[in-house]
Amino acid sequence: MAYDRNNVFARILRGEIPCKKVYEDEHVLAFDDISARAPTHVLVIPKGEYVSLDDFSAKASDAEIGALIRALGSIARQRGVAESGYRILANTGGDGHQEVPHFHVHLLGGRDLGAMLPRR
Ligand code: AMP
Repeated sequence: MAYDRNNVFARILRGEIPCKKVYEDEHVLAFDDISARAPTHVLVIPKGEYVSLDDFSAKASDAEIGALIRALGSIARQRGVAESGYRILANTGGDGHQEVPHFHVHLLGGRDLGAMLPRR
């Protein structure tokens, strides 16, 4: 899938839409999810134009990939969920119900998050 420069996270990165910033460095921006599903619900995104984890893992530099992982750990500690526990997830493509086509990782915590997925 080609990258859509008008997706909502691209617009946040350009400053066209506000966000509640949690963290920023050269490669990464993190902000609160607008529709939080847990007391901590942060979206961690690369600044580069990547549609999905697949795209990111294939094309991003080691520095970009390292920065994203380090940001996730740092934000978990900053939000005080590193000890209590948390979940990271990246919805991807159709089966993953990805809504925004800019790669992002959800970091959720601050309450018991329940089982990973309901069993069928
Ligand atoms: P998904 O692509 O399914 O992983 O979900 C996209 C997430 O982006 C949802 O949890 C939305 O609540 C969130 N979202 C959409 N627009 C915004 C926005 N302007 N600011 C913050 N979060 C947003």
